[in-house]
Amino acid sequence: MKTAEIRRRFLDHFTAAGHTLVPSASLVYNDPTLLFVNAGMVPFKSYFTGAEDAPYDTATSCQKCVRTLDIEEVGKTTRHGTFFQMNGNFSFGDYFKEGAIQHAWKLVTGSVGDGGLGFDPDKVWVTVLGPGHHPDFPEGDAEAVALWRSVGLPDERIQRRDLKDNYWNMGVPGPGGPCSEIYIDRGPAYGPEGGPVVDEDRFLEIWNLVFMQQELSAVRAKDDFDVLRPLPKPNIDTGMGLERVAYLMQGKDNMYEIDQIFPVIEKAAELSGKRYGANHDDDVRMRVVADHVRSGLMLMTDGVTPGNEARGYVLRRLLRRSVRAMRLLGVHDPVLPELLPISKGLMEESYPEVTSEWARVSASAYAEEESFRRTLASGTQIFDVAVRNAKAAGQTTLAGDQAFQLHDTYGFPIDLTLEMASEAGLEVDRAEFTRLMGEQKARAKADARAKKGGAVNTEAYRQLREAGETPFLGFTDLTVPSRVRGIVRDGAVVPSAQPGDVVEVVLAETPFYAEAGGQDADAGVLTAPGLALDVLDVQRPVQGLVVHKVLVNEGELTAGAEVLAQVDAAARLGACQAHTATHIVNAALRQLLGDTTHQAGSYNKPGYLRFDFNATAGLSTDAKAELEGIVNQAVRGNFAVTDREMPLDEAKALGAQAMFGEKYGNVVRMVELNGAWSRELCGGTHVGSTAQIGLVNLLGEGSIGSGIRRVEALVSGDAFSRFAAERALVGTLADTLKTQPDQLVDRVEKLLAQLKSAEKEIADLRTQQLLGNLDALAASATDVGAVKLVARAMPGVGGGDLRTLAMGLRDKLSSQPAVVALVGGEAKPVVIVATTDAARAAGAKAGQLVDVAAAQLGGKGGGKDDLAQGGGSDAAGTDAALAAIRDALAG
Ligand code: ATP
Ligand code: MG
Repeated sequence: MKTAEIRRRFLDHFTAAGHTLVPSASLVYNDPTLLFVNAGMVPFKSYFTGAEDAPYDTATSCQKCVRTLDIEEVGKTTRHGTFFQMNGNFSFGDYFKEGAIQHAWKLVTGSVGDGGLGFDPDKVWVTVLGPGHHPDFPEGDAEAVALWRSVGLPDERIQRRDLKDNYWNMGVPGPGGPCSEIYIDRGPAYGPEGGPVVDEDRFLEIWNLVFMQQELSAVRAKDDFDVLRPLPKPNIDTGMGLERVAYLMQGKDNMYEIDQIFPVIEKAAELSGKRYGANHDDDVRMRVVADHVRSGLMLMTDGVTPGNEARGYVLRRLLRRSVRAMRLLGVHDPVLPELLPISKGLMEESYPEVTSEWARVSASAYAEEESFRRTLASGTQIFDVAVRNAKAAGQTTLAGDQAFQLHDTYGFPIDLTLEMASEAGLEVDRAEFTRLMGEQKARAKADARAKKGGAVNTEAYRQLREAGETPFLGFTDLTVPSRVRGIVRDGAVVPSAQPGDVVEVVLAETPFYAEAGGQDADAGVLTAPGLALDVLDVQRPVQGLVVHKVLVNEGELTAGAEVLAQVDAAARLGACQAHTATHIVNAALRQLLGDTTHQAGSYNKPGYLRFDFNATAGLSTDAKAELEGIVNQAVRGNFAVTDREMPLDEAKALGAQAMFGEKYGNVVRMVELNGAWSRELCGGTHVGSTAQIGLVNLLGEGSIGSGIRRVEALVSGDAFSRFAAERALVGTLADTLKTQPDQLVDRVEKLLAQLKSAEKEIADLRTQQLLGNLDALAASATDVGAVKLVARAMPGVGGGDLRTLAMGLRDKLSSQPAVVALVGGEAKPVVIVATTDAARAAGAKAGQLVDVAAAQLGGKGGGKDDLAQGGGSDAAGTDAALAAIRDALAG
């Protein structure tokens, strides 16, 4: 049965039983504690913690998951993918253990004809929390045991385990509870008898049922936590690994051989000319390739671009690992253009977005492979030099710090270094390499800890949030009478604050816009008779709760106080102008570069905006001018700016742009400029029509990381000020150069040409002057040994002139045994030595003499016997250089 069909069956089973079908969230769903969604329950977290009310009692989903921790397991175990799909059913205070167990049993063992998965009930094992591990469960999870027995599972296939294996919590205070895992026995060929407690490879975990029934007040570890109270309404969260079920049902040995993955392995085998199944190491490489290519595809589809930090780095690592694995399989040509389309073809049935995003995804992936190939090429050069040096020094080992440098500076993977070193007949000092890597990891960890220390405690906010969300009235009203609902200082709720204090204030309702969607927070004041507060920042630290960071200027601030909340109207107008201008830039870029251009971030505040987007190449000067033109045309067009609320699906169908990773509810706000000219999902504030923006001045465009570019622009008054300042500058320049602004370029070009010819003239004159001195210089020759020597320091005389001079002098002295040695040079010292025929007959060699002199200048030299030149880095050695020549001739 195809993987997509198993997915459908699961979802059908639960929707038939009344569950709401919830589409998979994006892998980059915005949960600040996670890099990527790693389990089906992530998008439902706030319903489980009670931070939000669940809009349904039961739900089912097939969630895209990425587990970066499993990256090293891939290909080595049979059951871990970096990307995988987790089917789940969820109950928010509706059914509990009995419902969850009956549903799972029915689906797992139900016949295929009846919509089940058709596993043999005799092959099913489960684990539950055993007795004696927690005082609240002295008999273990006896309830779960009884329920498993009641569906027909014999006691010997219900195994008891401890808290580490069969108790679930979130790692932080909140819901927790025992869980029960379902395993399928793959048979004696895969390992010993004895159930999952003995062998987790033969007995394969396919499904985990979590019974959330307690509220935890503190969590120190999986098996060390304090229980606050039983949950008044217990919940169900389950996760079934789709790939694991698929490989069992498809009669395969591991998850990489299922229909959604295996064709990539086949392609890798074809490209490398190796047979899958012939050699263990090669097989692991092919599995790694197939897994990583698919994970890369899914991550890029959800908007991740390769980079050096966080999500981008994980993606980069996956793509590079697959390129490198192919290289180790012997394929040196680009591989992603061969492999990625195959993965796309396999995933599009379940995930149509891989097709709609394909143009962008493939361009980004292929560019990343190209850049990695360049890295490999330069790393290979460094590697070759290191090998040559090691061999020349008679070593059989490549030093650990060299392997580390290759890894650290050139991104050269260690296993590639090992492989290439062994081809070159060398070993690598792995112990030293590992030590250096360890040091680096420790540094990185210390960094991460330092950053984490700054993380805020959200407990106080959650407490204040219990009274409900903060209504935002600021779309229509900028001045609102309100009441102080709570004051927070250093993460704790406090009753009051004094003049000079900086605290956070939650109001009953607010006109202040909290920073979101790229728009900076409003500025303004909170006042009451005898009380004045400056609003410094406005944020929404937990969903729906607006928090104003204020400075108490005057009076005592107390919880419950009535205040007048006033947004700075001029700043707000600036914010609206900048935000609408940001939408215009987005639409204009898509007009200019095509629909594969996607927003990757933005920030705007009064007078300024920046907008990040994915692109593999920069904008030409013409394109930048065109962009500015389109943007300002849209401003002048005075497009109406309107907004309306509608279901998410409807907005998407209308082509509304959404930010990757942004959480959108079922009902969204869509902002339109001139109807369909620009449509974006947006919660920000905007001008009523685009002419209110006035003017947009594009500052520039550049790269801010692999595949991401940024445009910056000034808006309205700031845009005008800059144009005005530039015009003033042009005016000053024109005055200084005594010309008209439109003649400026001509004038400067002429000046530059004049300057160049004047410089040439000066150089010629100087040479002539020097040559005019030849007689005097020749007369200054002294006898050294058998020859006459002219040795002079000529600081500032360039190499070309020195040469001309040296040859002129030699001509003058050609009838005698004579050596001319001149040291000069402009930026760096240069030494020239010329010899006459007679001097050479007497044994003087220009090349040797230059070498001796250059050594004193911190450099090297060489050349023929009659004329030679050398250079150095330190002109302070000039006298010593001349003396060295004299000595060499005398000796
Ligand atoms: P394991 O111990 O095998 O790593 P887990 O305990 O980490 O599994 P859960 O967190 O309970 O798994 O996830 C629920 C289900 O998701 C598992 O029962 C399994 O079927 C599936 N699953 C978990 N991790 C992976 C993975 N890396 N690749 C494929 N499926 C996975
Ligand atoms: Mg795991």
